[in-house]
Amino acid sequence: MTHYQSTTAIRKALSNWYRTHQRHLPWRQTRDPYRIWVSEVMLQQTQVATVIDYYRRFLDRLATVADLAAADQQTVLKLWEGLGYYARARNLHRAAQIVCNDFAGRVPGNMDAFRKLPGVGAYIGAAVMSIAFEQPFAVVDGNVKRVLARLLCLDDAVNATNAHKTFQVHADELLDRNDPGEFNQAVMELGALICTPKKPVCASCAVNRWCCARQQNQVDVYPRRVPKKSTPVYRVAVGVVKKKGRLLITRRKSEGLLGGLWEFPGGRIDDGETAKQACVREIKEEVNLTVAVESHLAQVKHAYTHFRIIMDVFCCRYVGGRVRLRGPVDFQWVRPHQLDHYPFPKANNKFIPLLRRQLQC
Ligand code: SF4
Repeated sequence: MTHYQSTTAIRKALSNWYRTHQRHLPWRQTRDPYRIWVSEVMLQQTQVATVIDYYRRFLDRLATVADLAAADQQTVLKLWEGLGYYARARNLHRAAQIVCNDFAGRVPGNMDAFRKLPGVGAYIGAAVMSIAFEQPFAVVDGNVKRVLARLLCLDDAVNATNAHKTFQVHADELLDRNDPGEFNQAVMELGALICTPKKPVCASCAVNRWCCARQQNQVDVYPRRVPKKSTPVYRVAVGVVKKKGRLLITRRKSEGLLGGLWEFPGGRIDDGETAKQACVREIKEEVNLTVAVESHLAQVKHAYTHFRIIMDVFCCRYVGGRVRLRGPVDFQWVRPHQLDHYPFPKANNKFIPLLRRQLQC
């Protein structure tokens, strides 16, 4: 079989398989570019099973791009709370405002214009253009890279910084230009359901007869990866400061990691310092309050993309001072039941239920 014939046959096999075996996911029941865009932004870095509820809640509340543009950032972050990678939400929000101002509320169906919007990179651009507008752009995500690496025995490491280009070239070549939206989804679905990272189900795979890794009995060898650097672990101390039945929370600046979210004040533990000492010092430095530690509430572990934290949380009594912010951009003294109204990072949400139960702190 010539290269051209096998490419055509692979496309056909994938498309037939996808039509029969695809999962019925809420974003597959629409052609609305806004809804497809929201789903793709959520699906970057997050599992399908987690996204489904978030997606429904988000669109129940913000059904159109105009609704999103008009919402305040806190509403958007609250709907995103727990999904992580909050820059995605902030960018989507800003992009919706641009769509309303510059494109009369219509998501631009032109790759160049769409790619200029905040947060729209190669993946989101290709996904929305192909699925919503049937334009011939191939997506490259983790699933696609794995399928291509095995199907074609590609030796480029999937996690190398410069690997994207190579995979994009192969994805472009394989793309079915007559049905790019379905083709892209078919490859990603194959990666999610059949050509999985561990124990791919090659016997049931629609493209197994063309698969290089399978023919060479090297399915376990592909995709190749460069070894991960070990992630640093940071020790952090945080204080729940209580004053007349209210708790102090602060808001992080809008940009950067966890930007715009609320949290309890605290920070990194310095060398030679105890967690308790760090808690008192950080609160003084960050919000200018003098506090006394009363008890240890919890120790929370949380992993971010490039580092992990071990966080000691203390219940603190307000001793003196007026709040003056250094770092955070806002603060509130809130009743415990009001914590629900604010978006918090996951690491804080890990101890908030316990805090509620122990409100003698
Ligand atoms: S045959 Fe196996 S390794 Fe090859 S693409 Fe299919 S599932 Fe992946």
